[in-house]
Amino acid sequence: MSSPRRPLVAGNWKMNKTGPDARAYCERLVALVAADGVTAEVAICPPFTALESVAFALAGTPILTAAQAVHEAESGAHTGEVSATMIAATGALGTLVGHSERRAAGETDAQVAARVRAALDHGLFVIMCVGESLELRDANETLGWLSSQVAAALAHVQTDDVERLAIAYEPIWAIGTGRTATQEQAQEACAHVRAEASKVVDGAAVRILYGGSVTPANAAELMAQPDVDGALVGGASLDPESFAAIIRATA
Ligand code: PEP
Repeated sequence: MSSPRRPLVAGNWKMNKTGPDARAYCERLVALVAADGVTAEVAICPPFTALESVAFALAGTPILTAAQAVHEAESGAHTGEVSATMIAATGALGTLVGHSERRAAGETDAQVAARVRAALDHGLFVIMCVGESLELRDANETLGWLSSQVAAALAHVQTDDVERLAIAYEPIWAIGTGRTATQEQAQEACAHVRAEASKVVDGAAVRILYGGSVTPANAAELMAQPDVDGALVGGASLDPESFAAIIRATA
């Protein structure tokens, strides 16, 4: 049976590319995606400094723009942070929340939950990230860890948020390492994340992505797993040709 969930492929540029770099990239990606007749949903997550350029370059195209992070407050004394209102004002439509690189820099479960809520309240779509360290996987604690991360992050989510919510399962040991989860590991973890999310939202509707060293060579087999509804792509999203090849692999 085919999945009722539309695949979603998001490119996380992390701390890469300026506004001018972004404009050339977007032009090329839009052309590639149009030529491929892609049916998946596609999003680009540039750094804040390129957000407006990317949103402008992608306006009127099927490709969405999203931020990499959001602060839960509306405004105030939060140096270096950006609110959901500010993100929406750039023309971006969504945001990542709780990426492991942000969690490693101090973002807590409570902040992730508050940031998911703030983004949703401002009409943004959210890709909320969870994932275990190598130590937890080696100690056979992956599933318990994912349960607690998902439950904590969805603490303020309501049933009708499901259309604007996706969850990315990103094992920390696979991010930027070239060491991808096996299809079986990705399927098991994504199915578990779905089961946990279904305590809050419709599990059949919520999209669960895999992230961690996704490349054109491994994307199709990972996204073919029944509970993997797409990918969150870091390094391989920096080149429009390789990102387009990953998007094509959803077909
Ligand atoms: C990421 O940054 O979310 C990510 C998955 O990175 P990479 O694809 O480079 O592992």
